[in-house]
Amino acid sequence: MAQSMSMITLPLPLGMGSVNCYLLPAGDGYILIDTGASHVRHMLRRELGKLGCQPGALHLIILTHGDFDHTGNAAYFRAAFRSKIAMHADDARMAEAGDMFVNRHKPNAVLRALIPRLFGFGRAERFTPDILLEDGSTLSTYGLQAQVFSIPGHSRGSLGILTAAGDLICGDLMENTKKPALGSLMDDRDAALHSAAKLRSLAIRTVYPGHGKPFSMDELSGDQLVA
Ligand SMILES: [Zn+2]
Repeated sequence: MAQSMSMITLPLPLGMGSVNCYLLPAGDGYILIDTGASHVRHMLRRELGKLGCQPGALHLIILTHGDFDHTGNAAYFRAAFRSKIAMHADDARMAEAGDMFVNRHKPNAVLRALIPRLFGFGRAERFTPDILLEDGSTLSTYGLQAQVFSIPGHSRGSLGILTAAGDLICGDLMENTKKPALGSLMDDRDAALHSAAKLRSLAIRTVYPGHGKPFSMDELSGDQLVA
């Protein structure tokens, strides 16, 4: 069994880049944070196997937010690995309805219809979470010393998970595809700036983003964090 957190990078559809999932040892098993898009399900299953995570050993799947490039395999692994799914209530309807624009500023109808197809999020991928997390939730019940933070901005129900070791999994609030930065797709930029400011006061050693490479909080330039 791996003793430390493992980062699993999976491709996005149509060469749109990649998305990161994180597998953390927790108690006598594992917690998986984010699951990639559905078209790379076999890759994720293979990577979990290589890391020693077999059906029955994945106690919890945490979703940093409701977007299909992060939630595409949650329903599948919940069933196949007998896990539970945890996320914030404000993004739960995205997964239940198969609509990333629930609770967000709405795009045009074409985009709204196209996106589930693009990310392969059909009826089989929809789910209702078993556990609702909120700001201040802890994960000790699941064998992980970590705290959950509500960090709205990219979506209303976006979550950050900060481990006792100082590793922050930040979902899409921040990214590092070219350089460490606030996420390029924000639903509410003011909320995002507020979330980033809140994180700055915490003891964070390394930030692990949904897209791109890990970075230290100091690498995030100050002008990224001004409204
Ligand atoms: Zn994303």
